[in-house]
Amino acid sequence: MNDVKKLNQIYEGKAKKVFATSSPDYFIVEYKDDATAFNGLKHGTITGKGIINNKMSNAMFALLESKGVKTHFVEQLSDRETLVRAVKIVPLEIIIRNVAAGSFSKRYGVEEGRELKCPTLEFSLKDDALNDPLINDSHIIALGVATEQELAQIREMAYKVNEVLKEFFAGIGVKLIDFKIEAGRLPDGEIILADEISPDTCRFWDAKTNEKLDKDRFRRDMGGVEEAYQEIFSRINKK
Ligand code: UDP
Repeated sequence: MNDVKKLNQIYEGKAKKVFATSSPDYFIVEYKDDATAFNGLKHGTITGKGIINNKMSNAMFALLESKGVKTHFVEQLSDRETLVRAVKIVPLEIIIRNVAAGSFSKRYGVEEGRELKCPTLEFSLKDDALNDPLINDSHIIALGVATEQELAQIREMAYKVNEVLKEFFAGIGVKLIDFKIEAGRLPDGEIILADEISPDTCRFWDAKTNEKLDKDRFRRDMGGVEEAYQEIFSRINKK
């Protein structure tokens, strides 16, 4: 893949930039240290986050690939850059929860930390202007956001990702509370896992102390943000 050249930036999100390449089949993503929360209301920098999120996401994608989950990951190019397969993102935030936290706790009046009776899947429509509203299967199909077949694939992929990640993180003394993934469509319509898997997009609690090792430390001004990202990353690397 050394012959794929980085071309113009085609998108800049809150935590990543995406570049076109000399091949229509690939993009290059570049991870930034910028952090936002509450739909962009809160801004900040988490020093070194881009490097950790890049390397950690790639390690998680490689693990998931080894367990049969197809992902957009191709090859890490540098500390912050990765070559990925070009996909069109399905505009959904696909969220799996094992333990109540965050907006789920608020919405349903459930204390943070309550174990859910089963992994729970929910979708939000990715639309900043609308504040990423919750959306159900029926809405998704009716609005043409995804077809019934695609939804079935997305659901299966999300639960599989949860099983693989839950087991992996348990092995490094971390509880996977919840996480968000995104799905992409290849040109032939196949659905694969895209975006990232990092402390920006997952809630990680230390298995013994319940200490938060994720972006909630930034969202909630808890301090020790960089240290939390570093802690998760070093546990992954020791594995
Ligand atoms: N999440 C995310 N991006 C978003 C919203 C949520 O990556 O725009 C992740 C978040 O880090 C958490 C999970 O999805 O791991 C569930 O988040 P929740 O709905 O509780 O939202 P929050 O409390 O973060 O607003």
